[in-house]
Amino acid sequence: MTRYEPVIGLEVHAQLLTETKLFCGCSVAYGAEPNTQLCPTCLGLPGSVPRLNRRAVELAIRVGLALGCEIHRDTAFSRKHYFYPDLASNYQNSQFEPPVIGRGELCIEVDGVERRIGITRAHLEEDAAKNIHGAGGGLYTVVDYNRGGQPLLEIVSEPDLRSAEEAELYLRKLREILIFAGVNDGNLEEGSFRCDANVSIRPVGQEKFGTRVELKNINSFRFVRRAIEFEIARQEAVLASGGALVQETRTWNENVGQTISMREKESAQDYRYFESPELPRIEIDDEMIERARAQLPELPDAIRARFIEELGLTPYDAGVLTSHPGIARYFDAVASGMKADAKLGKRIANFIQSEVLRDTQIAGLDAKFPVTPEALIELLSMVEARTINLNLAKQVFHEMVASGKSAAAIVEEKGLGGGVDEAALEAEVLKVIEKNPSQVEQYRGGKAAVFGFFVGQVMRATRGQADPQLVQALLRKHLDG
Ligand SMILES: [Zn+2]
Repeated sequence: MTRYEPVIGLEVHAQLLTETKLFCGCSVAYGAEPNTQLCPTCLGLPGSVPRLNRRAVELAIRVGLALGCEIHRDTAFSRKHYFYPDLASNYQNSQFEPPVIGRGELCIEVDGVERRIGITRAHLEEDAAKNIHGAGGGLYTVVDYNRGGQPLLEIVSEPDLRSAEEAELYLRKLREILIFAGVNDGNLEEGSFRCDANVSIRPVGQEKFGTRVELKNINSFRFVRRAIEFEIARQEAVLASGGALVQETRTWNENVGQTISMREKESAQDYRYFESPELPRIEIDDEMIERARAQLPELPDAIRARFIEELGLTPYDAGVLTSHPGIARYFDAVASGMKADAKLGKRIANFIQSEVLRDTQIAGLDAKFPVTPEALIELLSMVEARTINLNLAKQVFHEMVASGKSAAAIVEEKGLGGGVDEAALEAEVLKVIEKNPSQVEQYRGGKAAVFGFFVGQVMRATRGQADPQLVQALLRKHLDG
């Protein structure tokens, strides 16, 4: 039986985080009332005058730099013609050859092995409007033109991916880079990060590509994986039964767990691309590139490496603390505010992961933390100075979240600070031992679990302020000695 190898290339449409659309001043605000963010230009009315949004070009350059791509200094917009109700002008302003961003690559790690996936190109284009199917009891499709004309960067990969898993890893990595670069909010469900996959199979060892199928607009990582897995199996079954594949566009239907044919795929010729007669060429000089380089924030791979090498984090911790740019910035602010070395860095990371992240709200690029980095620095500095122990610090933290008060105010109010000095603590330990002779007998008779009872008694007697490690050491000294 012939063994097949999947060949997958991905096209990602990422909405660029500009304030206004690509060729007019209309707002790109998400969630506005339908058909309120419009003007003659983004409706494609004859006689309107499009102007290029420079910010979109700057963000595209930033992506090019983040992915190590060539940047083409002189490119143009081309009209891509097709008819669909979501495109009022019957053509889309897009880019043909050359695109603003050329070749680059993106590294993914598959089972611990690094794989370099080629980026073919990235080009600027205007988004189409949004068709909302099934209005009027299912009879009509209504169109919201607010989205029409919003700036997109289409990022096209080489057909270098060899499994659905690799495709998912590539997408996650690309999304992470775009989010950290501050150019896209990475929201698959709301469609600001959309993915199409080109999938074909070929006999293992064959150079020539098979007939490819394009999977359109898959709106979650899970669906991407399932759609590609289904498509590979479907194509293998067609070929195994002696059939032939057609070049077509299919869509993933989650309800039936299958890809469904939409239409036979157009070729570039069908779109009759030609250079836009009314849009200015995109001209990029050194200054624009240098400005974009200066604005490119540190990227997640570099942040993780720094967290591991300089701040003592495990790869797992580093992954959690770079799961969102806001979280990475928060940890960075606390660590640098406390001048953390590797040991302190790890303690700060532990506290943030176990306490702070539990109450952190993430929405798009925004992260809302229960307390500011400064407030957390104040609290953790008290732990470092042994004013309070870690258990108390957790209680104080929850009080801070609930009341909005500072750590110092809460410690003062509850009379917590000061801890317990060793001599006073030893006196408490001896008192507890003296008061509980039968437990002492049990412990010395080999019932090790009773030890926890003694720790609890001493902690209670000191109102939780004693250093638990010191309590254990003193108990061992007097119980075992
Ligand atoms: Zn407009």
